[in-house]
Amino acid sequence: MSTLKLDVVSAERVVYSDDVDIVIAPGIEGQLGILPHHTPLMTTLQVGELLVRKGAQEFSLVITGGFLEVRPDRVIVLADAAERAEEIDITRAEDAKRRAEEQLKRRTPEVDVAQAEAALRRSLARLKVGEKRRRRRGS
Ligand code: ATP
Repeated sequence: MSTLKLDVVSAERVVYSDDVDIVIAPGIEGQLGILPHHTPLMTTLQVGELLVRKGAQEFSLVITGGFLEVRPDRVIVLADAAERAEEIDITRAEDAKRRAEEQLKRRTPEVDVAQAEAALRRSLARLKVGEKRRRRRGS
């Protein structure tokens, strides 16, 4: 069976690079499933989970937005920030969530609501991916 080469790159580092069977990405208009021989495309990603299947294994990453390019047998994700599920610091994400929620509750003039909402979305995505992994390992 043919595979896809997936590269997930942030400004800081190569977050993930491997040959995989399927990529399911958080496209701006919903989930985007990419199999080998997918039509070439470029699209914007939103905050969310990027799911990768390789044989019987499944990997999750969190992406905080960016771009995705599909080339013949290759997928490149340029992420604003990205972490593999095992790299997510859940306590840090919980703190970020609490800070964002407090800001949104206070709504004083110095609070940038759009920024706080974006921080909340990032923290929730990290918690979703991080806690899913924790549950799987626990079971
Ligand atoms: P925080 O307020 O905790 O910094 P943030 O959403 O503002 O969260 P980002 O700007 O998205 O953070 O990311 C900055 C850097 O920190 C990136 O390298 C990102 O991968 C990393 N990062 C952010 N939150 C976490 C986390 N909970 N676990 C692991 N890495 C994280």
